Amino acid sequence: MENQKKFACAINCMDGRVQDAVKNFMQKNYGVDYVDMVTEPGPNKILADASEATIIENIRKRVEVSVHHHGSKVIAIVGHFGCAGNPTEKEEQIAHLNQAEVTVKGFGFDAEVIKLWADGDWTTVEKI
Ligand SMILES: [Zn+2]
Repeated sequence: MENQKKFACAINCMDGRVQDAVKNFMQKNYGVDYVDMVTEPGPNKILADASEATIIENIRKRVEVSVHHHGSKVIAIVGHFGCAGNPTEKEEQIAHLNQAEVTVKGFGFDAEVIKLWADGDWTTVEKI
């Protein structure tokens, strides 16, 4: 039955190269059937920047649909190699991910928040 299917949520970059990599990682490691994608260009940078309050609220509303309507228990935040929306090195993007984690935990949803790095082979994803 459809309502028994398991969902996770990913706040992912809009970049088409990372969609499958993130979806596959979440399906494999969290046993979910579907991954709701909330996409922005460089979402780790946006979520790390308090001046982006309007976009952050828009992200929060979409994550809420995934958590409350689909029952997602995991929310991933993604940074990736070669990001046009956040054109910085991995080290700086991980700092953004750490700050983004604080922001997303602040949404207060009953779900685990994880941080992911998607590499430039467009297949490898690691948990930060
Ligand atoms: Zn990107």
